[in-house]
Amino acid sequence: VGSAALGQIQASQLQKTLTTKPKPLVPKEDLIFGHVFTDHMLTFEWTAKAGWGRPQIKPYGPLQIDPCCAVLHYALECFEGLKAYRDAQGKVRLFRPEKNMERMNNSAERLHLPQFEGSQVLECIKELLRTDERWVPEGRGYSLYLRPTLISTENTLGVHRSNSAMLFVIASPCGPYFPTGFKAVSLYCDETNVRAWPGGVGNKKLGSNYAPSIGPQVMAESKGYQQVLWTIGDDHELMEVGTMNLFVFWRTEDGNTELVTPPLDGTILPGVTRDSILELTRSWGEFKVSERKINMKQLARASDEGRLLEVFGAGTACVVTPVNRIHFQGKDYQVPLDPANSESQAGPLAARIYNTLFAIQYGELPSKWSVVV
Ligand code: PMP
Repeated sequence: VGSAALGQIQASQLQKTLTTKPKPLVPKEDLIFGHVFTDHMLTFEWTAKAGWGRPQIKPYGPLQIDPCCAVLHYALECFEGLKAYRDAQGKVRLFRPEKNMERMNNSAERLHLPQFEGSQVLECIKELLRTDERWVPEGRGYSLYLRPTLISTENTLGVHRSNSAMLFVIASPCGPYFPTGFKAVSLYCDETNVRAWPGGVGNKKLGSNYAPSIGPQVMAESKGYQQVLWTIGDDHELMEVGTMNLFVFWRTEDGNTELVTPPLDGTILPGVTRDSILELTRSWGEFKVSERKINMKQLARASDEGRLLEVFGAGTACVVTPVNRIHFQGKDYQVPLDPANSESQAGPLAARIYNTLFAIQYGELPSKWSVVV
């Protein structure tokens, strides 16, 4: 947060300009993720001279930025993704939103874009939710996806620090990721392309981390797999699954049952879902929960020896996504889903985590993680 003399974001100063042309709501069944946006958006402008200006809620619409803006040339941009859920009483809830504010400030720091008081931005986000309340869909699996975005609006060419920036928040109603509940995905272990590396920015949510993932993702699809399993190094250390954190549930060689996820060594995005799963499963105290390195050879051997119990991705979009098959060096390694239920698309652990987090997000299970708007 900049020097005290500069303007800070103050939710109490929020100005509202309401649309004169509210859009018709899209029927719930027709919602496609990220296709429809609400009537309003939230914007905050910043200059190095004056700091943050007054927060504004205004009609959703195009931004006017100069073609020379740094965001368009050097990808000076970071973003967040979180959801608002409608509970059974009709109240709107957020899930650990302060974690997203914290992560966004960490992302901004690396780009030398302005940081901000997360609690003040959150208050403004809540006001946006109250303004566009009718857009928060009802029903299991439905939510309003929020996309806070911070861009450099520096209007001079050259790679240097920004003198102006804009933070905005847009909102998109969405349905359940998989209407039938879970849908297990297959993974292609990419040996050529690396998503992030030591000293890099894998732990930041920068747009520039996502652009270079399109090529490998299309390649995985062309080979008949749904997502990329990102690895690094000669040992093919496991990193992430597509845009999700990775969890492996297995019996180790010494016979322990363990849930393991790669450690936050700077190459892994610190997912809010990841953190929640770690805290939740540790509180159960039923098996070992570890943040440690794990490589493809160990995973392949566990699959061959029948020690692999479950593999799943974790993220805001779908909470957990079970994995059923992993391609590595010419061979497909099978991951059991639910051995007790041949129809199931999820293992028992993934299903239990999903149900618990889901109940918290929709206010069915009281938790400090769920914040009423
Ligand atoms: N890893 C990557 C690369 C992601 O883009 C995301 C989505 N933000 C995640 C993990 C999951 O993070 P979260 O649980 O905070 O959604």
